[in-house]
Amino acid sequence: MSWTSWAQGRNAKAREKRRWRQLRELDVFGARGTLHDGRRVVVFAANDYLGLSAHPEVMAAAHRAIDEWGTGAGASRLITGSRPVHHELEENLAQWKQTEAALVFPSGYSANVGILSALAGPQVLICSDELNHASIVDGCRLAASLGAKTELYRHNDIEALEGLLGSWAGRSVVVTDSVFSMDGDAAPLSELASACARHGALLLVDEAHAVLGPYFSGLPCEVLRIGTLSKALGSQGGFVACSTEMAQMLVNRCRSFIYTTALAPSSAAAALAALRVLRSPEGASLLAQLEGYSRRLLPGRRLASPIVPLITGSEEAALKASEALLEMSLFVPAVRPPSVPPGTSRLRVSLSAAHTDDEVELLVKSLVQLDLLPVGTPSARLL
Ligand code: PMP
Repeated sequence: MSWTSWAQGRNAKAREKRRWRQLRELDVFGARGTLHDGRRVVVFAANDYLGLSAHPEVMAAAHRAIDEWGTGAGASRLITGSRPVHHELEENLAQWKQTEAALVFPSGYSANVGILSALAGPQVLICSDELNHASIVDGCRLAASLGAKTELYRHNDIEALEGLLGSWAGRSVVVTDSVFSMDGDAAPLSELASACARHGALLLVDEAHAVLGPYFSGLPCEVLRIGTLSKALGSQGGFVACSTEMAQMLVNRCRSFIYTTALAPSSAAAALAALRVLRSPEGASLLAQLEGYSRRLLPGRRLASPIVPLITGSEEAALKASEALLEMSLFVPAVRPPSVPPGTSRLRVSLSAAHTDDEVELLVKSLVQLDLLPVGTPSARLL
């Protein structure tokens, strides 16, 4: 059988299982855009939580960086790819996260995969929450191939985690999303940190979606804070904030940092400008706006999150709901297995400070009409 026939077979299976995915061309600026068929839509699906990808200062910083350094870094950081803007960004990220150092990667995905594999080796146990992001799952797989023992623990289950840590004599790592990407719920960071402290484990926290918290400082164990530049910071790339020793170890040992071209200087400059906006009074009001929208869709939740899962169960129902919303000019894609466990297909709404009150109002009304939100979900104008 040729490889093309093999691919044909795989594609036919995906269609049969109603799991076929295809790219959809979407001409977007900020939170609004046009589908390939000309329909105008408001996008409730991106991770540009504060709308900074279209912020004038962030865009201007990227333009200036292109004028100064061109479009690509041309080499890996360790060869000739390390521009002043990478270093300035790393200093600012470290200051923001209150760590000694930070290291920028070409993506959050490569940060997770590279860091987990750099920590791996025989006598290392890596415990990973069962709902962690795919990049952590892949990092664990690579770590396992390097001799580490990897174990999943039940979602946010500290007791199960303690059981694993308690029965291991070697070094150990606990890795968790801070806000889970498909459910929008948060990890119990202080309990996790206490468990890590009791067992001498290192805690890796992926804060990709932690735009509204949980915020933390001074945890009782060693911590690596992984983040992305491509969501709340509206750019591209990933990073880790950690001790200087740990950053230096990664520069020397982390293959997804060493063997790849440095992040484009314009992406680093955009992220740096976005970080400055985020930490300014303007950033505080964008965060407040986002929190207000989040609380509308999930009233009563302890920690606000811009990710709102609306579980439909079947893949069919999720696809139907997504199509119905599209008819109302709202772009909210269906998320299906393998991105989520079977039977938990859903619409994944993500909110942004770039949305307007009227757009969030239309979303809520449409979701109520489709029975995806309870009748009586408060109106934006009442809050
Ligand atoms: N971690 C989490 C929790 C994520 O949701 C994502 C992206 N969806 C990543 C890491 C990867 O980040 P990036 O898009 O920068 O590769």
